[in-house]
Amino acid sequence: MAALVLFGGGGDLAMRMLLPSLYFLEHDGLLPDDLKIIGAARSDESRDEYLAKVRAAVEGKAEADDAWSDAAWGRLAGRLDYLAVDATDPESLKPLKDRVGDGPTTSFLAVSPSLYGRIVTALKAAGLAGEHDRVVLEKPVGRDLETFREIDDAVAHAFSENQVFRIDHYLGKETVQNLIALRFGNTVFEPLWNNLSIDHVQITVGETVGVGDRWPYYDEYGALRDMLQNHMLQLLCLVAMEPPADLDPDSVRNEKVKVLRSLRPITPDEAERVTVRGQYVGGVVEGEPVSGYDEERGQDSDTETFVAIRADIDNWRWAGVPFFMRTGKRLPEKRTEIVIQFKPVPHSIFDHGDRGALAANRMVIELQPEEDISLSVMNKRPGLEQRMQLQPIRMSLSWGQNDRDARPPRRRIAYERLLLDALAGDSTLFVRRDEAEQAWKWVDEVSDAWSEGKVRPQTYAAGTWGPEAATALLASTGREWNTGHG
Ligand code: NAP
Repeated sequence: MAALVLFGGGGDLAMRMLLPSLYFLEHDGLLPDDLKIIGAARSDESRDEYLAKVRAAVEGKAEADDAWSDAAWGRLAGRLDYLAVDATDPESLKPLKDRVGDGPTTSFLAVSPSLYGRIVTALKAAGLAGEHDRVVLEKPVGRDLETFREIDDAVAHAFSENQVFRIDHYLGKETVQNLIALRFGNTVFEPLWNNLSIDHVQITVGETVGVGDRWPYYDEYGALRDMLQNHMLQLLCLVAMEPPADLDPDSVRNEKVKVLRSLRPITPDEAERVTVRGQYVGGVVEGEPVSGYDEERGQDSDTETFVAIRADIDNWRWAGVPFFMRTGKRLPEKRTEIVIQFKPVPHSIFDHGDRGALAANRMVIELQPEEDISLSVMNKRPGLEQRMQLQPIRMSLSWGQNDRDARPPRRRIAYERLLLDALAGDSTLFVRRDEAEQAWKWVDEVSDAWSEGKVRPQTYAAGTWGPEAATALLASTGREWNTGHG
């Protein structure tokens, strides 16, 4: 019998994401029949108390998705158990080992990353790191290359690499996988996917929330480490990678590592030109007045809540094509998108004037708030005018439009996908050690350059798209951030 152990099974991630995802998988009949699920945390509570908490966390979400069923809950509850353990103590893990038996065990560490090293060591000592067992790690693993290696060395001591599943939940998103399908399942895009046809790429991850009471964590990380090192570089890799030989985990991840290795290092001198740091001050977000970061934190801080970076990929495909990335808190919209901006036509046969300017083609891959991929193309405006009138139109390239039966993906689907894959031992959508190391190496160079003091956070009013310098980063090259939103 296989087991999934949720260490930190009573925490925020488990209750908001993992257990609702497991419910949906159960509802859809996708969980392996013989899977046991055990919540494990230090709090001393009974199985019934735990089940009541889980039900409260799951029921509203399932109802909102029109997917609550007493039968599905009954099946999930039948598999669920709770055990009070201190996961860092091998002695305390013994009863858990007895409970899971000899089947393969997947340990999901939904606990503070500062405990990862001690927990994996304890798992090994308690016999929970056998050759058929697996461990799933949430970000952030470390805050730079050195601390990543410290933790990951402990992980490697207990588990071999093919047993380690480092989650980046962006990779579980339907649209991210759809990007792979679009690129490599069609002939029309790949021949254009290079510096001959693409002018530049933009990746935006905008959040309207502030840091709030997460500041003790956030203040140590900042936007660069919290978002760009992981989610944004992962998206960049999927856009930029060469076609893998197949979808095997190592084939895909080898290609992603090559992209990371090709990222041009950002020297201290370059940092001033190609990076922007920002920190929000009070402003208005979604109609509500909000405080600045320093006020939330209670004292002055140099941590950036916004970062914009121009990355260059030094290889044949992408030479001369900048990848602009920006992310921040307290921006005007919760929005995640990748914009592939194609070059303008080399020569226009339409004299623009009153006929509508030619807009260069643009593919927008939207991950939030909706998941969608669209391509804008120029079209003839219908009509009998003597002189042809043009207009841009937007074609949707994802579900919805063409398949009336396909429903838009549920919000938790990323975790559903990743939990299923981890249970099946498929690590294609997880981050390999050398990938994480390369990403940290590049990010460390940026933060080292910043620590020389030349790139200081500039303020931006909450509810705006970051400091002026972020606009100038593109404007200085004759480009601008996408505001059309598809
Ligand atoms: P949290 O709400 O603080 O929950 C932590 C859990 O760990 C609690 O259930 C706690 O319960 C348990 N725990 C602490 N020490 C333990 C020990 N020695 N042995 C066993 N259980 C222990 O944290 P979280 O927000 O869920 O975050 C968990 C992880 O996910 C972190 O790595 C975080 O960075 C990552 N993450 C979270 C989110 C999110 O949305 N929350 C998003 C992305 C990544 P007891 O006190 O009862 O032991």
